Amino acid sequence: MEVIAAWPAVLAAATMTSAPPERGISEALANERAQTFQSVRYDLTFRVPERKAEPIRALETVRFTVHAPHRVVLDFEQPRDHIQGVEANGTAVPADFANGHVIVPASAIKPGENAIRIEFTAGDESLNRNDDFLYTLYVPARAHLAFPCFDQPNVKARYQLALEIPADWQAVANGAELDPNTVSSDLTKASGPGLRMMRFVETRPLPTYLFAFAAGKFRVETGVRDGRTFRMYHRETDAAKVARNRDAIFDLHAKALSWLEDYTGIPYPWGKFDFVLIPSFQFGGMEHPGAIFYNASGLMLDESATQNQFLGRASTISHETSHMWFGDLVTMRWFNDVWMKEVMANFMAAKIVNPSFRDVNHELRFLLQHYPAAYDVDRTAGSNPIRQELGNLNEAGALYGPIIYDKAPIAMRQLELITREDGFRDALREYLHEYSFGNATWLELVRIFDEHSRGRSIAAWSKAWIEQRGRPEIRTELRTDASGIADLTLKMRDPLGRGLVWSQRLQVAIGYGDHEEKLGVSLDSRETVVTQARGMKTPLYVIPNGGGLGYGLFQLNDQTRRYLLEHLETIRDPLTRGSAWVDLWENLLEGQVGAADFLDLAARALPKEVDEQNVQRILSYTTHAFWQFLSPQERKERAPALEATLRQGIAHAFYGREKSAWFTAYRDVAVTPDGVAWLKRVWRHEGRIPGLTFAETDEINMALELAIRGTPDSREILAEERDRIQNPDRKARFEFVMPALSDDPAVRQQAFERLKDVENRRHEPWVLESLKYLNHPLRQDETRQFLRPSLDLLAEIQRTGDIFFPARWTGAVLASQRSPEAAKIVRDYLAKNLRLAERLRWDVLASADDLIRASKTIAKREK
Ligand SMILES: [Zn+2]
Repeated sequence: MEVIAAWPAVLAAATMTSAPPERGISEALANERAQTFQSVRYDLTFRVPERKAEPIRALETVRFTVHAPHRVVLDFEQPRDHIQGVEANGTAVPADFANGHVIVPASAIKPGENAIRIEFTAGDESLNRNDDFLYTLYVPARAHLAFPCFDQPNVKARYQLALEIPADWQAVANGAELDPNTVSSDLTKASGPGLRMMRFVETRPLPTYLFAFAAGKFRVETGVRDGRTFRMYHRETDAAKVARNRDAIFDLHAKALSWLEDYTGIPYPWGKFDFVLIPSFQFGGMEHPGAIFYNASGLMLDESATQNQFLGRASTISHETSHMWFGDLVTMRWFNDVWMKEVMANFMAAKIVNPSFRDVNHELRFLLQHYPAAYDVDRTAGSNPIRQELGNLNEAGALYGPIIYDKAPIAMRQLELITREDGFRDALREYLHEYSFGNATWLELVRIFDEHSRGRSIAAWSKAWIEQRGRPEIRTELRTDASGIADLTLKMRDPLGRGLVWSQRLQVAIGYGDHEEKLGVSLDSRETVVTQARGMKTPLYVIPNGGGLGYGLFQLNDQTRRYLLEHLETIRDPLTRGSAWVDLWENLLEGQVGAADFLDLAARALPKEVDEQNVQRILSYTTHAFWQFLSPQERKERAPALEATLRQGIAHAFYGREKSAWFTAYRDVAVTPDGVAWLKRVWRHEGRIPGLTFAETDEINMALELAIRGTPDSREILAEERDRIQNPDRKARFEFVMPALSDDPAVRQQAFERLKDVENRRHEPWVLESLKYLNHPLRQDETRQFLRPSLDLLAEIQRTGDIFFPARWTGAVLASQRSPEAAKIVRDYLAKNLRLAERLRWDVLASADDLIRASKTIAKREK
């Protein structure tokens, strides 16, 4: 306990009696505070010095009302000497410091309004301080690393912010800037020369994870759309790139905004609309009201951008804009329901983006964007339910992942099919109105859905889809006789033996050489007879998820599997082809389709595939199968033909973005001496590819891929690329990654060792890129030594890193491993770490799934 000022013994006694709360923010503490504190307001001042090594001094006043005196537990995960003083209602008070909390005793609190004033040094961990800019990232509960607060989603508060910054910096926050001349407070004055003070309008009620600001050397672009002003803060140095992207970025925001106002029936609730493009931002975007943060590379596209990147940009913008209602206006009560805001944002994004891309097959896009990613986790032993338990917010980060981002939208689309579009929209409107500026749980939304579902029990549906993990196995049984189909039955099985039934709507594709029939089917029990199929002609194939709706492991019947391996490319409907590719891949992982057969089909189908989305998916499966499911010898044998196919694809693709997709696949798999030599000529600007231009990031990636191939001049290639890079952020990243590609094993070892120091893990995308190359399949034998130490770091990674970091770390470490020895290291690690947090175990199991499957295949072959 630390004494801040002289304080009477009676207060000391009061403080000592109640036990301090545990570390992090437990559900119990959160409930206590949500019930106790009303009308919370923060008045915060941060003095941001020019040099990132200097501390940020800060001052805050927390105001709230209570019915009766009650202890005040503020979260602040910093050493005690970060707090310089605590006052309650104008008087210095003794405060306890325990387990990352500052505790003001109940005796210092009075019924009604209270004000606690704290002078402190802000923690840097969630401030992302760089040489000439910084930005906050508080999701899910990292605000309390920076300042003392009630760091939980259901104590919403108003924020009044003042920032002292170097005079030549910009700053942006949730609220609009106040004109300094209109503010009469000594806080309008900066504390020294070369500094200026900025104040921002008080926000409407926000949870801590949405409070945000960014400051630094940013350029500002302004766009006006439909009478509304948007501002874009960025650090892009390439003026042509900005000019090329600016209008599209403003247009996409304006379109999303007006669509959402219309759909929800609620005007944009947050006043001004700014966004900040941050280099190497941890996520695609973060939905701070009034100040969305984006990963710069997702919005500022290069000239060679693929159609997927254009779609990705539109989706990201629509996703974050949707959050202004879903998540920001109505927030989950506790972070176990974080998936709700994510699924709604994704779901709305799909609805918003579709009309802007008329030439895209959106059903196919939904399928390819969500199903493979959801299956990547849901098929593994590391899968988890959409809605999980969460005892303490310090584990909240681990909730995020493909189950939330990809499976939940699939589930939600099924829900919309049940409630119909207007019932679904009306339920959401009711929910947003009822809980505006407040919080709600999934079960509260289910209650509203139940009123709009015309008698179907949404609560029952929610049990299998939302509250339990895993996916069904769905088997096709087809019986034919002389007159055609005698019986077509779909059998659903819960592979985890719980007897769950995932009620869902399907479109079963029944194919003939010249045409295809799609039959709408409701699967509501373990066995469903497709009555409409009876008497139809004997088909060539039956694909139960042909319409891209069904979710599960579709075990195709033998005839269909054989037909697809021989004729998939002749199927006319691109959506059926996409579904068939996804099914074949899942069947490959189940050992029912061989990698060689799969790659033969891909080589034959790729030149004929006319849908760009399917091309991208097949290219991605091809790259994956090539590195993960072939032995080095098989790779060697297949490489010349594969490279030739990809070179042809580059030459024949019509649009630059398609050429770029083909080129990326080529770049990632080229291993023959001729293939690598050609890549090098392209990188050296010696050979031009008509219709394809390369940006700085493309050249960087080429240099990295060339270096990992171990060509004799890899050292010169890296050095030359480093000198070529103009953009300072990209240069810094490249210099960080370089040692991981060194031709000297000792340097590579060193490149790994430095990752053990948290200081060297600050830029997570840099770390992940280093790991990707350290663990590249071409370094297979060497990298096994990094495996165990990487796993041993996991718990620390979770403690010190951002929310996706543990899963991405295990992914980068395990993705390329394929040997039985590596699989054994993972099993040993899990066996010896039985007390590993459940979610980290899931991350390891999910990331190791390919490894376990690949090592089994290899072991089988070698027997
Ligand atoms: Zn989101």
